[in-house]
Amino acid sequence: MSSTDFRFEPAKMPANTAELRREVREFLDEMQKKGVYKPSAHNWSEGSREFSLALGKRGWIGMIWPKRYGGHERSALERYVVTEELLANGAPLRCHWSADRQNGPLILQFGNEWQKQTILPRFASGEASCAIGLSEPDSGSDLAAIRTRAVKVEGGWKVNGAKIWTSFAHFSNYLAVLLRTGTQPESRHAGVSRFLVDLSWPGITIRPVINMAGEHDFNHVIFDDVFVPDNMVIGEVDGAWKQLGQELAHERSAPDRWTYELHVLRLLIDRVGKNPSAVQAQAIGRMVSHLWTLKNMSASIAGMLDRGLNPGVEASIVKDLGTHYEQEMPHIARTLVDEGLRAALPEGDLFNESLHLALLMAPSLTIKGGTREILRNAIARGLGLR
Ligand SMILES: Cc1cc2nc3c(=O)[nH]c(=O)nc-3n(C[C@H](O)[C@H](O)[C@H](O)COP(=O)(O)OP(=O)(O)OC[C@H]3O[C@@H](n4cnc5c(N)ncnc54)[C@H](O)[C@@H]3O)c2cc1C
Repeated sequence: MSSTDFRFEPAKMPANTAELRREVREFLDEMQKKGVYKPSAHNWSEGSREFSLALGKRGWIGMIWPKRYGGHERSALERYVVTEELLANGAPLRCHWSADRQNGPLILQFGNEWQKQTILPRFASGEASCAIGLSEPDSGSDLAAIRTRAVKVEGGWKVNGAKIWTSFAHFSNYLAVLLRTGTQPESRHAGVSRFLVDLSWPGITIRPVINMAGEHDFNHVIFDDVFVPDNMVIGEVDGAWKQLGQELAHERSAPDRWTYELHVLRLLIDRVGKNPSAVQAQAIGRMVSHLWTLKNMSASIAGMLDRGLNPGVEASIVKDLGTHYEQEMPHIARTLVDEGLRAALPEGDLFNESLHLALLMAPSLTIKGGTREILRNAIARGLGLR
């Protein structure tokens, strides 16, 4: 790619966009009335199996996958509309999120027929969750340095080592894990493979890692002589490096990169009310206009995916801009609502709680899914600048 190839063409939204948005909002109202979830600052990080199963039943997980694998053959733009509504309304998505966004597409593209027929329908129904096992204690940005190893044995592989920062492994059924399989010293990139591991198998220990907000989101996953059968290799043995670029495009382009804290903005607007001061109106107007730009860039990526393109560089740009926006937004929100007023709000006030959590989580947004520096390196490389 050269700089002249770099563009975000406006997406042509599907004709049923308004109807789809209405359907999702009705579904969310129904879920709340039934008591499946209630708006909470913690929804995004907690998830709800009951909610994911109901969403799966509506056909809103695995929306773009083939019907024969449990999917619904809808467009990436329709999926985009549904996802945006779910995120903006603070729905609890954690139980199916990684499987829908990235592990499912990974299996669809590189997995074997058994995995597609057996695992994908379980993802699409909301029944099975899948975590992402890339980072290790001494290897985060430099994934080619991973040391957790799979050694070939009769009928499968023996795995030893550890992964870290593994989000939601403690309630996931599977882990899509990157392991070293190459035996040559020069095989840094060429010697890694992707496996799907059932987290209930013997030899796997999942230890909590508590984040800065005092919550249990991620984990340390330890493998001690874990047997993984051959049919759980995703793609080519020693060939996972070239699969990673495509997977990370799915991870980075998703609207959660700029809607993670959207509920804070909505609650801020409610809190400020219909007669904002000039400063409040200006700051909120600025945040909303930035949001509108991010939304259009993100929809443009969904449109590119529908056209069979691989918008890796564009996805990195959206993640970089989106996470920058999300880091700033709660700090601006904090200055717009008088501190005395906030202190007087009752315990458990949704605005106060969401703001508090957003401020604590903000630093992590430019680390997870690739740090800011790594993204900018990738963008520069993609544009032929380095
Ligand atoms: C909330 C959260 C959830 C996460 N969930 C998961 C998960 O589910 N699964 C998973 O596998 N991982 C997960 N991670 C881990 C995440 O992917 C890594 O933290 C990230 O890739 C950075 O790796 P590191 O922490 O080892 O930092 P390092 O790679 O050591 O980086 C440290 C600093 O050095 C900079 N740096 C490193 N290399 C370069 C370079 N070449 N050029 C310029 N600067 C550089 C980085 O940008 C960073 O600022 C999660 C992280 C967080 C915060």
